[in-house]
Amino acid sequence: MTLKTRIAGALLGAAIGDGYGFPTEFKSFRDILYHWPPDGPDAPIGEPIIVTDDTQMSLAVGKALMQSYPAAWQPEQIAAALTGTFIEWLNDPQNDRAPGMTCLLACEELERGSHWLHATARHSKGCGANMRVLPVGLLAAKGISRTEIGQLAQLQAAITHGHPTALAAAEITAICIAMLLEEVAPDALLEQLIQHAKSQKSIYHEAYLKSVWERPAVFSGEDFIQYGWEEVLAQLERVKEALPLYEPGSDPCVFTGMGWVAEEAFGTALLCFLLSPDDAVAILKRAVVTGGDSDSIACLAGAFVGAYAGLAALPQDWVARIEYREALEALADFYD
Ligand SMILES: [Mg+2]
Repeated sequence: MTLKTRIAGALLGAAIGDGYGFPTEFKSFRDILYHWPPDGPDAPIGEPIIVTDDTQMSLAVGKALMQSYPAAWQPEQIAAALTGTFIEWLNDPQNDRAPGMTCLLACEELERGSHWLHATARHSKGCGANMRVLPVGLLAAKGISRTEIGQLAQLQAAITHGHPTALAAAEITAICIAMLLEEVAPDALLEQLIQHAKSQKSIYHEAYLKSVWERPAVFSGEDFIQYGWEEVLAQLERVKEALPLYEPGSDPCVFTGMGWVAEEAFGTALLCFLLSPDDAVAILKRAVVTGGDSDSIACLAGAFVGAYAGLAALPQDWVARIEYREALEALADFYD
């Protein structure tokens, strides 16, 4: 399988998951079964399949990376590009898909001219931090190192979400995508992610993150980021424990969390993927039929299976119907 089909698969798979999960996002697990008997919707609804802020903000991150690469590939310049494309997203008339409040408030502050260090919500670890990180993980296809992918993943999160777990969860999500692109096998993935998280525990990327760690009762960037990695490691352990316990047809959120916060969105998406890596339709439905943040969980699960199994693993009728298809295909071309 070519790298190109994995890249396109990840981008379109994420958007399909996002659109498929949009109608179930604010419904409980029981409500979803009641509305779509007997076991939830079998396919995404609509022509086109309407996506949410997850896909729109992923496109904003992707656009900032394209604008910066390679001539302006420095932390400050990439942060400025992200600030610009996030403000564009804020003012986009299509930004009417129940966007997260943390992202909205931070982007409004950016628009008023504040530096991201002042605009970011330092207490927030909402999944806005990592539901848009896919374009950073895909940089593995351009030969960008895992260290730099981690730095950029944390930076794009930090602009709106300044909690250490938001940063670590954004990095582990991007690294998961990078590992799948690099053909790490699903049965080896969890252990490699745990090793990566352990290796990063005391590494604070000062050149990218500046003083975002500073707050009362925190004494260094290293102490700050360690807290985030500990929460990510605990989440990875939850996924490991859930894999043999999961009952088919039950709500994955019961095992690994509702996904409103970044590490849970990642963990529940990873669980949905690892339960049946070779069955994209089953992965997406499992992620959509969840009591928590269904569109973000399915967006990440779709990114994982697309990066692993490529575009051909997704139902072609769904690919044909997805909103923003042309923009996503144009972004895929950037990684070639
Ligand atoms: Mg959303």
